[in-house]
Amino acid sequence: MEIKWDASKCCHAGVCVKSLPEVFKIESGEFVIDPANADEQKIKDVVSQCPSGALECAD
Ligand code: SF4
Repeated sequence: MEIKWDASKCCHAGVCVKSLPEVFKIESGEFVIDPANADEQKIKDVVSQCPSGALECAD
């Protein structure tokens, strides 16, 4: 599964990073998404909780 992130929409609420830190992380100041580290349903749940709509699942 591929996850798209729109930096211009992200309001940096941190919901994704707090909910699923093994997938959504900050590395060297860069936002990194590593979808291989959790099952798809968990990722979809977090994507749907993003308050700004910056995250999108693309299968
Ligand atoms: S949950 Fe959405 S708005 Fe919040 S930091 Fe993650 S991508 Fe940005």
